[in-house]
Amino acid sequence: MNVLLVASECSPFVKTGGLADVIGALPKALNNLGQDVKVLLPAYPALSALTEKGKTELKFASLHGAPARLVSVSSDGLNLLLLDAPHLYGRAGNIYLDANGMDWQDNYLRFGALSEVAAVVAKDGLKDWSVDLVSVHDWQAGLVPAYLRQSGEKVPPCVVTIYNIAFQGVFEPTCLDDLKLDKSLFTPEGLEYYGKVSFLKAGIAFSDKITTVSPTYAGEILQSEFGMGLEGLLQARKDDLVGILNGIDLDSWDPSTDTRLFAAYSISSMKGKAANRAALIERFGLNPVKNAPLFCVVSRLSAQKGLDLLLQVIPTLVGRGAKLAILGAGDKDLEKGFLEIASRYPGSVGVVLGYDESLAHQLQGGSDAILIPSRFEPCGLTQLYAMRYGTIPVVARTGGLADTVIDANDAALAAQCATGIQFVSDSALALDMAIARTCELFSQPTIWKKMIRNGMAQASGWDKSAARYDQLFRALVAANSKRIDQ
Ligand code: ADP
Repeated sequence: MNVLLVASECSPFVKTGGLADVIGALPKALNNLGQDVKVLLPAYPALSALTEKGKTELKFASLHGAPARLVSVSSDGLNLLLLDAPHLYGRAGNIYLDANGMDWQDNYLRFGALSEVAAVVAKDGLKDWSVDLVSVHDWQAGLVPAYLRQSGEKVPPCVVTIYNIAFQGVFEPTCLDDLKLDKSLFTPEGLEYYGKVSFLKAGIAFSDKITTVSPTYAGEILQSEFGMGLEGLLQARKDDLVGILNGIDLDSWDPSTDTRLFAAYSISSMKGKAANRAALIERFGLNPVKNAPLFCVVSRLSAQKGLDLLLQVIPTLVGRGAKLAILGAGDKDLEKGFLEIASRYPGSVGVVLGYDESLAHQLQGGSDAILIPSRFEPCGLTQLYAMRYGTIPVVARTGGLADTVIDANDAALAAQCATGIQFVSDSALALDMAIARTCELFSQPTIWKKMIRNGMAQASGWDKSAARYDQLFRALVAANSKRIDQ
């Protein structure tokens, strides 16, 4: 079965968040199940060396103002199709934002073009490769099924995957003309969203199936509290909505082989974890601490991640003797808030602002616990990395965090299956109590070590989840060929 997977980022080439990690790992797991997946991405500057090496598959005389081509190339276990259109993607810096941190003005064209080309490949195929199913990820690829819808009957089925319904790609309705999309799609049942065009809504409205990245989030987005205005459409399509948990790439995130760590370790030989802890304490300018945990945060700094709540409880965290190392970037007020609090508590709170993949691995390797106080969290990956690295996740009970962490309540402790600590989301008080509970558990080494082992032993790779995607894709392809045969 040939699958065209369309996305805007992919590890290890270009990453701003969890989407990239999934796109870098899921295709390999699907290929292992007998699929032939090609990943269609924009050819950003970070991919220029690969683009040069690739084979030209298709040429477009004009794609929104200048020529473009589609290039195929393989790298890092992935078969890539790169959309080489320098006028759209050849820009330095963040793939979505300009130098002032604002969305690129022409994002609707940049990602509309990605979808338009994907639809051409989906419909017509390449010289020696035809598409059985299209798998589109997040709003940036949301228009693919809209293009397929207007291009006629004989098109492959399409599955949209929602990573975060808060990011929808909403643009003025005038974009429809530029994107050559039929006005008949601009309805409340289609891609119209409060008078504007929502790319993600198009994906949801026109795909055959909708997946999202955890079972709990699938339930949450049916409610107005989490659905961001799309709950009505999702309720209407709830029989087509499935929550499939993200896995993690067990090769990229393995403490026994991770060259970014100061010392390797594994479940059977944990000695290296202490060396990583010591190095981290030095790196963040913290005072050494033995009888209280070293907490970390690795996150986008945004209201979604609940880090304003963390700012409120840092004084009591420090009062308990614990330490905190933070790596993050994003919201300017939060960045300022963390810098201020770090200067108020030197030796107890250390902050690094920015995006640093190596440091993210080192924080997972050296910390005792990670704090994830998200207000909502579709799946979350950092808690999964943490468990694999023997770092206890302390998480808000929402979305994928609720689905992947077993709270150390009395029953779980008695059954010896706890992997972390959960608390009610959107409450500084609950976060503070969870931190207190973590400190208490840390002071009981037998229980703490058992929790670490439980987390490290958890099977968080892609096998199980990829099998669910595989099943879903194969059923759709079978139903589609039956429909075409009739
Ligand atoms: P989201 O996609 O909402 O940002 P996830 O938990 O799904 O959240 O994925 C976040 C990914 O980005 C993880 O791989 C995490 O390690 C990484 N990450 C987040 N912030 C940073 C940062 N400042 N530096 C390095 N990696 C980061």
